[in-house]
This record gives sequence, structure tokens and C-alpha cells, in this order.
Amino acid sequence: MNFVSTRGNVSEIGFIDTVLMGLADDGGLLIPSKIPQIPQTRLEEMAKLTYQELAYEIFSYYIEGEIPENELKELIHQSYSTFRDPEVTPVRKVKDNMYVLELFHGPTFAFKDIALQFLGNLYSYVSKRQNKIIHILGATSGDTGASAIEGVRGKEGIRICILHPHQKVSKVQELQMTTVHDKNVLNLSVKGTFDDCQRIIKELFADVDFKNKYHLRAINSINFVRILAQTVYYFYAYFQVAKQTGIKSLNFSVPTGNFGDIFAGYLAKRMGLPINKLILATNENNILERFIHDGVYMPGQFHSTYSPSMDIQVASNFERYLYYLLDENPSLVSSLMDQFKSEGKIVVSEELLQKVKDDFAAHGVMGEECLQTISKYYDESNYLLDPHTACGVAAYEKYNESSEVYVTLATAHPAKFNESIERCHIEQVFPEKINQLFNKPQYQEIVDADNNEIVRELERLFSSSH
Ligand SMILES: *Cc1c(COP(=O)(O)O)cnc(C)c1O
Repeated sequence: MNFVSTRGNVSEIGFIDTVLMGLADDGGLLIPSKIPQIPQTRLEEMAKLTYQELAYEIFSYYIEGEIPENELKELIHQSYSTFRDPEVTPVRKVKDNMYVLELFHGPTFAFKDIALQFLGNLYSYVSKRQNKIIHILGATSGDTGASAIEGVRGKEGIRICILHPHQKVSKVQELQMTTVHDKNVLNLSVKGTFDDCQRIIKELFADVDFKNKYHLRAINSINFVRILAQTVYYFYAYFQVAKQTGIKSLNFSVPTGNFGDIFAGYLAKRMGLPINKLILATNENNILERFIHDGVYMPGQFHSTYSPSMDIQVASNFERYLYYLLDENPSLVSSLMDQFKSEGKIVVSEELLQKVKDDFAAHGVMGEECLQTISKYYDESNYLLDPHTACGVAAYEKYNESSEVYVTLATAHPAKFNESIERCHIEQVFPEKINQLFNKPQYQEIVDADNNEIVRELERLFSSSH
């Protein structure tokens, strides 16, 4: 399988080079040159596979032998052996026509582990195989950072620097990142928002000389592997729910920030999985909800919310979707992205908007509605939702039609966001692994949202002996 850029100015590359390139060298995002199609008959057989077997099969469509079979199987096995549930991503029936897909059984209690455990192991594998240094640079709204650090801490040949917005992540998120004391880990707490952090790393990655000089690698969802690993659980959930209900098509409600997770659902649909609607749930930072309703993609005012991992205005994966919406036309994507840069917005035609609405519905969930949903499901269904999942569930409720079946993605464990749970007057018991964090010392540097200052910190990390 070859990969191309959404902006059309990168020559076709294979899977491993795609992983290493992260952001495409022309500033676009990498995508498969052709989406693999899974025939209906094969889909029926895939229903029997375990999570790991399913991951192997889906990855194989994209990796096509670049990693030998036994080595890929070992990477997958290793990556999901750290999960606390044997099914990796189990589904739970919470309402008659609504299942929750629990994606938080990995080491850092959020769905990011599913892709980042694999990506961490894959970087380690590539580093050994090619004898290459891997320097990871990433931005996080809270969960990616902890998860990426957990995926590579202490690993030889790899150093990692994570930018997070100062005092805009939850306490547990901060502790998960900053209590790690391995020499190959640097946490920068940036005085700004997640959008500042994401803009800075995108600018550093777009400087191709700088990126190559320092062997910079990406762990954000600009990296196609993140998307690929996340398609697996859409298939897995579909098979589990289909077995229980006999349904032929399914709707997914997805708490959304950077459009990565929901784009994985879109890709699964394009591969042949019978997904009806993808419901996009946002919080007050609702640029994507507005786009799906009005066809205007324009950042608004930033809000700090009860669901901080979704506090994002500029969704980096939106460009991948735009590429498919525009019938895979890279010059159109480039001109719209240029327009976005100069005018601060993208507007699509009525005809395209109709196409968007065929695949997506959207609901922006405000703070009170989020908390009420947590309380309601705790009281009525005895199920404690984290605030991100609660946005997904509230969006399901808005579109709920009794003839349909829905899966809401549970993107984090509620213990990560106790600030919001406490507001509902619910007392939760923390998992032991989270309890232990509170007594550990923290390691982080507080810096300005300034590219030069961050480059200086990076150079210090990359030149340190390890
Ligand atoms: C990252 C994150 C999201 C948003 O996922 P995207 O792929 O950025 O859309 C939602 N919920 C939680 C808990 C997250 O950590």
C-alpha cells in the first residue's frame, strides 16, 4: 500500500515511511492512495476474530508485508497485553438500543492507549531495524501525552517531548505525564491553549530541515497509524453488537476534538463496515458541529470545559475528511487550506454540505447538559460516564430513534476527570494505579508559547546522553 498527501506534493511512500514522516512534507496529511475494500463475505467471517486477530487483518491491508507476519503479530500482541480487559475494547449494553464501547482499559485509562501502545512499540521496532534515532515531539490536550509517554518511557533509541497547555489539563492527566522520571522524557507546560501547542509543533514539523536534522517523529493524530489503529474497534464493536442484536447497520456517537477518532470511523465505513450515521459530539468548542450544520469551518472563541481533551478549535484531521469530501482532489484541498490560512474560514457548497450530512450528524453539548447526562446515567443506568463520553451519550440522546442501534465511544475512564464528576456530587472510587499518582514528585518545565524557547528545550533534550 502506498500513501499520498492530501495536498498532492509528496511522492508515494510506503507504510513505514508514512509513520516516520508524520505530517506530510508538503504540509498536508498522509492518506492511503486507495482505501482497501473488505468484501461482505469476508466481513461475515471476521466477526469471529479476537481483537488482536482483527487488528492483524486490518493492519495487513495497509502494511502489505512491509513488516513480516510474525513480527507484526508480536507487535500487536505486545501492545494489547498491557490492557486490563481480555477483550481490549469491550462493549456494554447501557440502554435498550445503546451500547458503550469502553476504550479506557489501557495503561493511562483513555482511548489514546489503543493507538499509542502500538505506535510506541512500532517506533521501537523501526528504531532497531533501521538503526535510527527516534525523537518524538507531540502536543496534548491531556490524554495523548500520558499515553505516548507510557508507550515509550525508558525505551532505547527514543526520546520524547510533550507540550501540554499549562493548568488546562485535569489533575490526573497532569500527574500521569509529569510523574514519569525516565531520562528520555521531557514535559513542557506551555502558557497557552492546546491550539497554541498544536500550532507550534505543526510549525516545527513543517520546517523540513529542522525535522530531518533532529529526526522528529509525530505521535499526534496527524500520524496515520493513530487513525489505522482506531479503525479496529469500530469493526470489533460492530461484530459484538451485531451478534447480540442481529442488526445489519450501526450508528456511532463519537466525542470529538481533533476529528481523529471519528475519522477512523469514517475510514472503517469507507472500507465497507455498515455504519449508518457517525454522530459527532463536541463541547462548547463546537467548530465541527457548526461545520456539519452550516458548512462553515471557522474557529470560534476558546472555552475551558468539563471535557478538556476536547477543548480544541482547529481540528487537525479535518483536512483528511476534506480530501474525501472533495473527491480526492489535492489541488482543491490545497486551495481551501490556503484560504483557511488567509481568511480564517472554509465554506462549502450546499451540494457538498448534503454529502457531509449523509455521513454525519452533530451535537454541541454545553456544560450543564454534560453534567446532567452524567447524573442521569449514574442514577438510572448505574453507569458512571466520564465527561467526554457524556457528551457522546447526550448526542446519542438527541438523535436517538428507537428503530436504530447506537454505540457511544467511551473515550476515558471517569477517574481521570474527577473535577467534573465531583460537580455531579458523585463520589467515585479511584483505581489503585491512579491513586498512587498523588504521592509522586512531578517533573516539568513551564515555558512560554514561543517557538524559540521550545526549540532550545528540545535541543537540550536531544543532546543529553541517555
Ligand atoms: C483525545 C480525546 C478525545 C477527542 O478525540 P479526537 O481524536 O481528538 O477527536 C475525546 N475524548 C477523550 C477522553 C480524549 O482523550
